[in-house]
Amino acid sequence: MPELPEVETIVRGLAGRLRGLEVEAVHLARSDVLHGSPTVFCAALRRRRVARVWRVAKQIRLTLAGPGRRDAGTLVFHLGMSGRLLLVAGGRPVEPHTHLRLVFRGGTELRFVDPRRFGGVWFLAPGRSDDRTWLGRNLPQVGQDALRMPLKAFRELLRRRRQIKALLLDQRPMAGLGNIYCDEALHRAGIHPLRRACTLNDDEVRRLHAAIRRVLQAAVRAGGSSIGDYRAADGSLGRFQLRHRVYGREGRPCPRCRTAIVRIAAAGRSSYLCSRCQPGG
Ligand SMILES: [Zn+2]
Repeated sequence: MPELPEVETIVRGLAGRLRGLEVEAVHLARSDVLHGSPTVFCAALRRRRVARVWRVAKQIRLTLAGPGRRDAGTLVFHLGMSGRLLLVAGGRPVEPHTHLRLVFRGGTELRFVDPRRFGGVWFLAPGRSDDRTWLGRNLPQVGQDALRMPLKAFRELLRRRRQIKALLLDQRPMAGLGNIYCDEALHRAGIHPLRRACTLNDDEVRRLHAAIRRVLQAAVRAGGSSIGDYRAADGSLGRFQLRHRVYGREGRPCPRCRTAIVRIAAAGRSSYLCSRCQPGG
């Protein structure tokens, strides 16, 4: 599942190439990926230009402009488990599970491919592009972006009794961390994933806050982690998987202390950790 760094990489890849392009045709092959009326959707997009490509947590947003640069609404993509957004030259074969194609003047196409269909497409009416709370059917609310979470708010969040890993994975209070970067940040901060958030002392809270930011920033610089289906918008692979210290490294030595990495279940997910660097639990 793409996490914040992968989504940020996709957004950066799309922004430079999509901005200013005009939508000429909309091909919706499966209307159930769209949350809203297909007729309204297709009519709203045609002849509009892409004004801005941006990210809200793990959502990719394309804000469109009409004549006179008037806000013409915002397309929202959520990639779910297996979704991909590909920017291709028109006329290229359409791969299976391509649910939506936006054809731009000049022939470039933006294709939404999602075999498992946990992702989706939404359309926010003009003037609602910044909306984080009203997002239409089935698009969950998202909290503060993990890259922009101030220490004070993070400290407040960690007063809860919940298990730290489950709390970090919950997208409502803080959005963007998934299984990979959660495990990587907890290892860098020396915190066991099963500890209760409220048992972390102030030093641990600071370390974790800094580790989350460092891991996400390094992963963005590396173009994300390519595991499973993830590809950037141009089809290229990320490189951060080569720098994972614990995630997916069961039985291999911890880069810090050489103890073998173990895998446990936490928050219903596989969690990788070093029991020496991350005591307790
Ligand atoms: Zn270790």
